[in-house]
Parts: sequence; structure tokens; C-alpha cells
Amino acid sequence: MIYLDNNATTKVDEKVLDVMIPYLQGEYANPSSMYDFAKKPAEALKVAREQVRDFYGAKDVNEIFFTSCGSESANMAIKGALACNKTRKHIITTKVEHPCVLNTYKTFEKQGYDVDYIGVNSEGELNLDELKEKLRKDTALVSVMWANNEVGVINPVEEIAEIVKSNSPETIFFVDGVQAAGKIPMNVKDTMIDMVGVSGHKFHAPKGVGALYVNKGCRIVPLINGGHQERGMRAGTENVPYIAGLGKAAELAKDSLSYESTEVKRLRDKLETGIIRNVFNARLNSTLKDRVPNTSNIGFEYVEGELILLHLSDYGICASSGSACTSGSLEPSHVLRAMGIPFTALHGSIRFSLSRFTKESEVDFVIEKMPVIMDKLTKISPFQDELNKLKLLKGDR
Ligand code: PLP
Repeated sequence: MIYLDNNATTKVDEKVLDVMIPYLQGEYANPSSMYDFAKKPAEALKVAREQVRDFYGAKDVNEIFFTSCGSESANMAIKGALACNKTRKHIITTKVEHPCVLNTYKTFEKQGYDVDYIGVNSEGELNLDELKEKLRKDTALVSVMWANNEVGVINPVEEIAEIVKSNSPETIFFVDGVQAAGKIPMNVKDTMIDMVGVSGHKFHAPKGVGALYVNKGCRIVPLINGGHQERGMRAGTENVPYIAGLGKAAELAKDSLSYESTEVKRLRDKLETGIIRNVFNARLNSTLKDRVPNTSNIGFEYVEGELILLHLSDYGICASSGSACTSGSLEPSHVLRAMGIPFTALHGSIRFSLSRFTKESEVDFVIEKMPVIMDKLTKISPFQDELNKLKLLKGDR
């Protein structure tokens, strides 16, 4: 099996698992209990909080809150901040956010909020002029993802934070950092960003644990009320094994950042150029400038994405279709549509996402098999005239 779908989820690092196991076995005490038996779990939470603080590059451990996933982090940030400022009713976000953000804003639109959705260009880059134009004195919240899950484009969130705050220091700026975490450095303490959410399963921790950074100066109300856990901001007995795993994964991810930006990037580039060179109907769906080092989104013109995925799967290759939608429908991706990717490539776009565990031999195998698959699929495509024209065009280049 060749796993190139690391933006969907990642394998748990064995070093992460080793840290978790004691808290799934003997060390099961509730970390809030008073007896000595609770000391180790309580200490594990402390260690993890410090590791996650360091991962974010935050100033203070009290700025870190553990959650169950990236979606919870986004909901906690957005709903928590909007509840604190009920007089402002304007929100700005982008057309290419993850559904956990977009669908949250839909609920606010129903409550009477005015939500502006900023567009992107054909390479997935955000239109900052549009953002500046849309900012108002009553803008309560702006939210922009750090890196896009489908095409990997990195948004200049530090610069956006400054634009937002210079318009109104009270406007809260939330960043969905799920796809940036473990791929590029974050260093939030040097920025004007108020909140950043991450999800453990995207950087080799297990599914079911995440975190939210909340700058000390930013006020939110809790999403989950109950006990005093997470300083009253997120009730519920802490998931000690998973939080310990998240902390270790964060430490390992931070240590691997230079490997990501060199070796993972080299393999991604090799895969991408290898495919685009050898497959005449392949085109890159992204900028070459600022993007995370592990992601490549390639459009295969006049071919169905689902068919490509099935053929890849026959060779044991796991990738993802740009048209995979949470609802399970075959609607083309909202991200690729916002980029204006031509209809001819929209349905045949495939995301390959690597990790620090991806091997060169795996990349070579995919480069070898992709032309074989595409040869079969272009032959059965109903768009033979268009494909012949494309072949001639590519041959001329
Ligand atoms: N934000 C982005 C950009 C994502 O890619 C994802 C998951 O794919 C999420 C949020 C949601 O994370 P989770 O699945 O942990 O809720």
C-alpha cells in the first residue's frame, strides 16, 4: 500500500503511540483527582501543553486549549468569539475554507449575520484587495485558513492579521491552522493572530484530539460548559492518552519541519513533475509560489476523478479526488470551482499528499503507473477530439 493521502489523515507515529500506552493501561486516574495515583496523568497534561505551546510558538501555556479535533477548535473559536461581541454582525471569510468553517458561518447567516466570502485567483491565492475593501467598522470576525487542504496554497496570515487589526483592533482574527500544522512553522507569538486551531491526526497523532491557541488578549466563551477542565473553557474529563500523544506528535512535527521543507518537498516536486511530464492531459492546480511542501493537486483533463482513484487503488495507491465531498455527492470541489479551474479538469482532479514517511520508491512507482492508468482512461473518455487536440498541443511544447 502506498499512502499519499496525508491531508486526509496520517498514520500514528510509533513514538507517539509509546507515549500514549501507559495512560490507556495502568495510568488511568482522572488527572483532577487529589491522590498520588493522579499525579502522572496530571503531569502528562502539563508536558503536552508545553509541547503544544512550543509547536505553536506561543508565549504562554495558558494560551493552549485541548479539543477533540480541528472542527471543534474552529467551532470553539468562532462561536466563542462571536458570543463575546454581539453588537457586531459582520464576518469575513474565504470561499475556500474547510466545511467546518463554512458550515459554521452558514448557521450565523441564518441568525442575521452578514458574511462576506473572499475569492481566490486561478492559482488559489487570496485576493487581499477584496479583503481590505470588505473590512468594516462592525466586522466582528475574520477567518482565513493558514494552508488550503486541497491545493496546499499558504495564505499570508501574519500580513492579514495586520490588515485586520489596523482596520479595527477589536475585530477577532481566527486562523484554521489544520493543514499548516507540521508542514510549515507557525510562531504565533510574533503575529497579531488571535486564534489558531489544529488537529492531531493531520500530524501523526491519533484521530480525536486537537488544540486551539487563544491569544491572552482575546476573549471567548466556552462551547462546552461543565467542569473546571481547561481552565473552565472546555469542560469534560481530559483525554489524557490522546493529549499526551498530541504533545509528542507536536514535538516530533516541530523537529521534522526542516525535513518537510527539504526532503518531503523534493519528493512532492519529483512526483508532480514526473506526472506532468509523462501524462499529456495533466495540469497543476495550484500556485508554485507559496504552498505547503507535501501537497500536489493535479487535474487530468477529460477524465473522471473517481475512475482515476479506483485505478490507483488497484495498484494499492491511496490518493484523493478534488471532487470528494463530505456529503458523498459527486459535486466538484468548492475550492477548485472558486479557483475557476476549467470544467474539463474539474472532475478529474487528484490530490496527492505526502508525509515524512513517504519513500522515494513509492513516488517512483506512482510516476511509473500514472501514464499506464491515464492511457486506459483517456481511451474510454467520450472526449476523443478534445484529447487529440490536447496531445498535439502538449507535443508542440
Ligand atoms: N480544517 C482543515 C483545513 C481541514 O483540512 C480539516 C480536515 O480535513 C479540518 C479543518 C477538520 O479537522 P478534523 O477532521 O480534525 O475535525
